[in-house]
Parts: sequence; structure tokens; C-alpha cells
Amino acid sequence: MLQKTLIVLKPDAVKRNIVGELISRFEKVGLHLQAMKMIQPTEEHLYDHYETIGQLASRRGEEILKINTDFMRSGPVIAMVREGVEAIEVVRKMVGSTEPKSALPGTIRGDYSHLSFGYTDKNNAWLTNLVHASATPEEAEKEVSLWFAQAEIYDHEMEAHQFKRGHKKSH
Ligand code: UDP
Ligand code: MG
Repeated sequence: MLQKTLIVLKPDAVKRNIVGELISRFEKVGLHLQAMKMIQPTEEHLYDHYETIGQLASRRGEEILKINTDFMRSGPVIAMVREGVEAIEVVRKMVGSTEPKSALPGTIRGDYSHLSFGYTDKNNAWLTNLVHASATPEEAEKEVSLWFAQAEIYDHEMEAHQFKRGHKKSH
């Protein structure tokens, strides 16, 4: 099933100047770019994103929500909408698990970071894990409309549609 998903390259990705490298990973697997912008999200926007939609405080506690909001306000981010077959699951697979220490090699978090929850908690450090990606279809739908107006999303055709079975050769 074709799905749209929200990807946000976090302030650490922008500051480390690896935005192009990360975007190219999503391009290589064929996920279709439908919207992209650089923004510095407000506290209210991040509350809607992480708590109203993501329920971070309920899952991990108020303190984590606050720390993570401060981190996400520490610089501009790049937000994208990409479309593809089962795109939500595919992007989560590419991003890897939340804690970089546990994220497998080959994933973005596993390849570009190694911090642990234990270290960041003990040293009062931000869990700089580079990318946000929608986790479920419900989350994706709400997040895409929180970050982008309908007019900013370009619903153009995926190349994969050109490879349907039974498609006639042109010569
Ligand atoms: N986070 C954190 N400490 C934690 C859990 C989460 O700093 O113990 C931050 C981290 O940046 C994470 C974000 O909050 O990416 C959202 O948490 P979630 O559980 O939704 O993980 P994700 O979906 O990003 O993998
Ligand atoms: Mg999440």
C-alpha cells in the first residue's frame, strides 16, 4: 500500500552538515519526495508533535518531553514528506531504533551515532539521534498535516507505477 510518511532531520543532522548524505539514503531506496522545508519549530508545534500526537510524556515521562523539546529547538530542522510502498515501516527500518547504541549498523542512527540512554541521562546530554520518522499510519497522517499545509505537498506519480505487470514493451 502506498503511504506518506514524515521525516525530520533533527538539529544535530543540520549542524553536522550531513543533510545531503541522509537525504540521499531515502532517494536511493526510491522513496518519492513530495514536500521539503527548513524550519525552526516553536515549542507549541513540538508539543503537538511529541505529546498530542506522539504521547512522549505519557510513554517516557514529562522530563524527557522537556529535554527533547529543548534539543529540537536548538537549531533549524529539515522536514520532508516522502511516499512509497509501506513507506512508514521502510523509513523506520532505515532510521533504526531510538537509542543509537542499540541501532544496528546500516541504519542512520547506527551509522552516524552511538550514544546510549545511560550516558545521556547521567551526563545531562541530549539524545542526538539525527532523524525523526513517523511510527504508525495514524501518527504519519497527523504529523504530515501538522508540518505541512495541503498546498505544500506535491502528489506527483511514483516511478514504481511504470513497472506494473503486463505493461507492454514500447518496441
Ligand atoms: N527521547 C529521549 N530520551 C528517551 C526517549 C526518547 O531523548 O529516553 C527522545 C529521542 O530524541 C527520541 C524522541 O524523544 O527520538 C521521541 O521518542 P520516541 O520514543 O517516539 O522514539 P522515536 O520514535 O524517535 O524512535
Ligand atoms: Mg516516535
